[in-house]
Amino acid sequence: MKCQQCQIGRYHTTKAPFLHKLNGQIMVLPDAPAFTCDICGHTAYTDSFLHRMEFLIDRMEDVDSTGSYKPVKLSPNEKTGWQTTRRSR
Ligand SMILES: [Zn+2]
Repeated sequence: MKCQQCQIGRYHTTKAPFLHKLNGQIMVLPDAPAFTCDICGHTAYTDSFLHRMEFLIDRMEDVDSTGSYKPVKLSPNEKTGWQTTRRSR
């Protein structure tokens, strides 16, 4: 896979910290599945990871707006695959 930024380098699978700002707070996932360019160092995240993050962030924003915060449970043993089930609204 070619680098989206420099169009020269190639991505290698790696783990990279994923940062997201949510309601004035920074959320950090230290071991997100990602790709890093071997030339310019550009980092891209896997589609499946971003899709899951989108869902989690969406859910967290929902919870926050109601005033009751339920932390999303993350198991350290499930670094490679998070199991999230979509709730119907
Ligand atoms: Zn690059």
